[in-house]
Amino acid sequence: MSEPARGPVVIVGAGQAGMQLATGLRQLGSTASITLVGDERCPPYERPPLSKAYLTGELERERLWFRHEQAYARQDVELRLATRAVAIDRAARTVTTAAGEVLPYEYCVLATGARARRLEVPGAELAGIHLLRGLDDADRLRAAIRPGVEVAVVGGGYIGMEIAASLTKLGARVAVIEAAPQVMSRGVAPVVADHVARRHRAEGVRLETGVGVAGFVGDEAVRAVRLADGREVAAELVVVGIGAAVNDELAAAAGLATDGGVPTDACARTADPAIFAIGDVAVQDHAFLGRHVRLESVQNAVDQAKAVARTLATGTPTPMREVPWFWTQQFDMMIQMVGWADAGLEWVLRGETATGAFAAYALADGAIQAVHAVNRGADYALGRRLVRERIRAEPGQLADPAFDPKTLLPARRGR
Ligand code: FAD
Ligand code: ADP
Repeated sequence: MSEPARGPVVIVGAGQAGMQLATGLRQLGSTASITLVGDERCPPYERPPLSKAYLTGELERERLWFRHEQAYARQDVELRLATRAVAIDRAARTVTTAAGEVLPYEYCVLATGARARRLEVPGAELAGIHLLRGLDDADRLRAAIRPGVEVAVVGGGYIGMEIAASLTKLGARVAVIEAAPQVMSRGVAPVVADHVARRHRAEGVRLETGVGVAGFVGDEAVRAVRLADGREVAAELVVVGIGAAVNDELAAAAGLATDGGVPTDACARTADPAIFAIGDVAVQDHAFLGRHVRLESVQNAVDQAKAVARTLATGTPTPMREVPWFWTQQFDMMIQMVGWADAGLEWVLRGETATGAFAAYALADGAIQAVHAVNRGADYALGRRLVRERIRAEPGQLADPAFDPKTLLPARRGR
């Protein structure tokens, strides 16, 4: 494209990415008609608090909305809630909703996100087994928690560990069952993952690692989780947090190739020039990372949406070049991560884990590729610049508490 979008823009999925795109288009002065189609009932909302402050009751429901429903109308964005898109006709350039309505588009943007993956084992249909992706899930889970209740969380990734921390705060007795040898091992500095495990244990969370789940035990309601080694973990309530399944069926049914998500170029364009894909559903050719990745983060959803807003509003294809960043909050730990952490990186520790505030810097071929900070916001903020500018460093320098990594930045950029 070389012209701004003029005809209708239909955004499928009213989550983080869809909301950001609709808003961003107007902020950039786009006059195209915009329809934001979402299958949930409430206005677009933030998911991160669902496993954190919303689950613990510290954040009210209305605080989750990005903006009030009326604000969309004021921006001339047609927000269609409780509306599911069921088909895309690429030849006719239309999106059909479950109610049979046909929405014509000049550009269609897929922002359908992902859903929580189910654990298909015997007993999976028993009552008391929860997933957490949406607000309704969080409400159901919150309503089932009372002090002393025995909970098993299956999956010790970000969401599983956040849920474990939140439910412990609410007085539940929590066990986490993680198939890998360590919790939080996917893309997290080992020193950070070890620290998180220790903090959880200190708070009374039982961690069963290196063991999978064979099934759930109970009559109507779940009573225990049966582990692959034959042991049982008693649980009146189970939360499964074993990662996401991508919502790419609509794209596949429309004849777009899918590969663990919808493949796009660096500008979020799919193989069909009239269709873009952003957020959790997209497998993008990442301009900063130089590889194809599907990222599940607020940063990625927001920055991809901003890039597509620019593309559609100006007619100039705009790649998303931002460095990935992410955060998780568990107990008193604010963990902030920037960059891309493969397995096998060389990690250098700054600070002492025993103080509860430290950072791990990852080096790849002499350059800083990632920084993971626990209660050290300054390292994280600096890390965003160091990683973005691919600054080189020596492990010995970084490990030296007297060395200020800020001095690694080129002087001309200003400090
Ligand atoms: P979503 O926000 O999932 O939105 C997609 C929307 O599309 C949904 O409302 C879905 O129902 C709808 N939809 C799907 N198919 C259709 C259809 N056919 N028709 C109509 N609507 C449809 N990220 C962080 O960076 N930090 C965190 O701390 C963090 N914590 C998280 C905690 C939880 C519990 C969860 C679930 C996620 C968390 N994330 C976090 C991830 C982050 O929320 C997601 O990466 C982000 O929401 C992705 O935005 P999205 O718009 O791609 O997808
Ligand atoms: P999420 O975003 O849902 O936290 P992650 O991929 O970060 O997703 O974490 C999911 C975790 O669940 C991983 O640590 C993975 O090893 C673990 N896992 C996956 N399947 C099982 C299973 N059957 N039993 C126990 N843990 C599992």
